[in-house]
Amino acid sequence: MSKQTILNKYLEKRSLIKNAHNGHHKIGCVIFDKSKYCVLCFGYNQYNIGLNFLSIHAEHHAVNKLRYSKKRKKVDVIIFRICNKGETILLGAPCENCQRIMREGIKKKGYTLNRVYYTNKMSETFSFIKKINLK
Ligand SMILES: [Zn+2]
Repeated sequence: MSKQTILNKYLEKRSLIKNAHNGHHKIGCVIFDKSKYCVLCFGYNQYNIGLNFLSIHAEHHAVNKLRYSKKRKKVDVIIFRICNKGETILLGAPCENCQRIMREGIKKKGYTLNRVYYTNKMSETFSFIKKINLK
């Protein structure tokens, strides 16, 4: 397994979701065990949910789904964004609020965050932010 394998697996799933959702579900966030490349959880962006029509970013959704751990495992995060048609990879850089949610939330769940990788526009490469540089 590699980051690319993880990305490709989720890209394929996400790209099959129909355009009718108006961007819904087109940003994904995977939190995985850094040493085993084992996926711990997956989150996606959702708009207008619940009684208050709130929206939730993929990173926030993923951190919410992450289970508490007693062992301090090192984790990496991959954030990807694809266009509504699901054909093109876009810039997946996280907003400042999500950077804070990941930095604080992942620690709270008992893990050590290492790096946050995100996709680049029209490219299969990743950029990353080190934990120390998260907002
Ligand atoms: Zn965000």
